[in-house]
Amino acid sequence: VKRSFASLGSYEHYGQNVFTGSVADEYLQKHGADGSVLSDPSWTKNNADIVAAAVLDWAVDRGANTFCHWFQPLAASGVRHGLTGQVQNMMMEFDRKTNDIKFDFKGKDLIKGETDGSSYPNGGLRATHTAGGYLAIDTSSPIFLRGDTIFIPSAFVSYYGAALDEKTPLLRSNEALNKEGTRLMKALGYEFDGDIYASIGLEQEMFLIPRDQYYRRPDIQLTGRTIMGKNAPRGQEMCDHYMAPLSTATAALACMQDIQEECWKIGIPLKTRHREVAPNQFEFAPLFGLNTTQVDQNIMVMQIIEEVAAKHDLAALLQEKPFNDINGSGKHNNWSIWTESGANLLDPNSINKASGNDASFGIIMAAIIGAVDEHGDLLRMSIASPGNDFRLGACEAPPAIVSTYIGEDMTSYLESFKSGTIGAYEPGSKTIDLGSKSVLPFEVPAQDRNRTSPFPYGGGRFEFRAVGSAQNVSMVNTVLNTITAEKFGAFADAIEAGADPQTVAKEALEKHWKVIFNGDNYDEENQKELTERGVWRIDSGVEAIHTLVSDKNTALFETMGVMKPDECAAREIILHDHYSGTVEMEALTMIDMINQNVIPSVKSAGVGPLADLEAAVPVLKNAVAAIHAAETSHAKAELARVLRLETMIDIRATCDAAEEVVPADLWTLATYKELLFLDQHTVSDSLLDDHYEE
Ligand code: ADP
Ligand code: MG
Repeated sequence: VKRSFASLGSYEHYGQNVFTGSVADEYLQKHGADGSVLSDPSWTKNNADIVAAAVLDWAVDRGANTFCHWFQPLAASGVRHGLTGQVQNMMMEFDRKTNDIKFDFKGKDLIKGETDGSSYPNGGLRATHTAGGYLAIDTSSPIFLRGDTIFIPSAFVSYYGAALDEKTPLLRSNEALNKEGTRLMKALGYEFDGDIYASIGLEQEMFLIPRDQYYRRPDIQLTGRTIMGKNAPRGQEMCDHYMAPLSTATAALACMQDIQEECWKIGIPLKTRHREVAPNQFEFAPLFGLNTTQVDQNIMVMQIIEEVAAKHDLAALLQEKPFNDINGSGKHNNWSIWTESGANLLDPNSINKASGNDASFGIIMAAIIGAVDEHGDLLRMSIASPGNDFRLGACEAPPAIVSTYIGEDMTSYLESFKSGTIGAYEPGSKTIDLGSKSVLPFEVPAQDRNRTSPFPYGGGRFEFRAVGSAQNVSMVNTVLNTITAEKFGAFADAIEAGADPQTVAKEALEKHWKVIFNGDNYDEENQKELTERGVWRIDSGVEAIHTLVSDKNTALFETMGVMKPDECAAREIILHDHYSGTVEMEALTMIDMINQNVIPSVKSAGVGPLADLEAAVPVLKNAVAAIHAAETSHAKAELARVLRLETMIDIRATCDAAEEVVPADLWTLATYKELLFLDQHTVSDSLLDDHYEE
């Protein structure tokens, strides 16, 4: 594949396979409408047949003859490749008598699907004898096309309308944010046309490892992470991987280029690519946009990363912590709130100007700071994925203590705001002078950046940094929207009842000031201080999941119209089962690896901790049996956590001690050295000239 991407003409494929913008407009015009039809969700009632005809036309022009409603079953994190569900149907009518075939795709086919979903995790919301599941098109995220199939982003609910997916609560939380946000803006004197919505940009980290070595690791294949493995003699001591050259000496660059290209076809603006901190670790980031679309696109980014890596003889690892003592992978969730008329509620200049009110930004910040302080437990819940167990609290991802960084500049502004001073927040700037006439002095924001905080403000956005790389981030954004909506609503209530807005904000700041922390969150003394202050701290992901059913939280979700108590209860069960299931797979994999790899190597080498290895197997088996025997999903998950974070870590040490002494030619598993240093692998000459034009 020779590339030449130096002209805009080379990007003519960008967005051709997504039914939105000019592509949708062109096809809708052929059928007597135009692209504006799609901007009003009621097209699913009034214009569904026209849209379906246009979609069919577009699909056939591109060689597609199949469609599916594309949905996101619950607990879609980790091992479910692509994290989505779909049943693919042909857009055709077959005549049994004549054997004539014709294309057939109507509005009714497009807007709704029915499916059996009782085999999905549902937490008791349905059983095999009450299994009706419905798929309804989500008009906020565009239809896209890959290969011979069009994908219709859909919400997935039970016969009674209970959410069986990740998307439905997010959609409902968008309504809550819009409703309460609009009320608060109105109370501050700002009226505008259209909705308030949340925008996100998701930085996606991952590893690329040689595929032949991947096949020599049952643990990576089945669970996404190394359950054992001695450290390589080289790690991150030189800080030599971060932002290092994307050299052509390995397949990684060509792989990343192909990933971007594949994404561009379906209109995913994957702009940024770079190497990350750990050896073999990489990152992509798109241009931010509407949250539902971004979540859908991120899921496709993850799927495409896996597919394209395989073509380059690489294996992509999206799991949060594939390697011990090597940085894990996150997915920073950059988040901001906008009016449809283009004002950013998290940007002081933008919102103060749009609202004609100098206090608006301070009031909005007070509400969000209050939301984070009060509902830090839910933010922690939303990032409780199995893989994140090994990241949170370690020296790479922020700890499981949910504070927020706003910087010294804004802190002192809010201090004076709190004590009654009125005036706009003007983000400061400063000049850096290098002392060289070749580089002129330049301006930078007065705020530094804090990469230790789980939820830092970063100028116009908050960045939720503790999110896990393999997660479907619907719940993360559902929580961000819901807790913010509640506080916006409470502020609006008070102001509508006659309270002075500044006073409302001042009281909230006084009450919730403790959640602001600008220092080093990795420092244990600071962690102690934050814990003593009463900032939410939940070290165990299993207990964080349990907060879904606390009275405070079920009431919050219910009043905001996001989830009913039975939906919260189902979600808790599903997340706990998902956790226990993950740990069980890991434990069974460890047993196999000990029996089939480690013990035979130790025996043939005649060295190593044979007796300890033999003793470890029944310990693991008994622990799995105890999980099975436990009564509730919560109890099972608690046992699973001990097995994973205590028992298996001890047993791993025994396995790694064996690896240390067994001669290389008798060790049958791929080592960290073989898995982690693409740069040091030899590659065929063809790679070097494959991807650039001379
Ligand atoms: P960083 O320096 O934080 O790693 P990156 O460029 O890697 O920055 O990623 C930043 C991400 O945040 C991108 O996806 C970008 O589009 C997104 N982003 C930038 N501004 C906003 C905003 N106001 N709201 C939401 N996302 C944003
Ligand atoms: Mg980045």
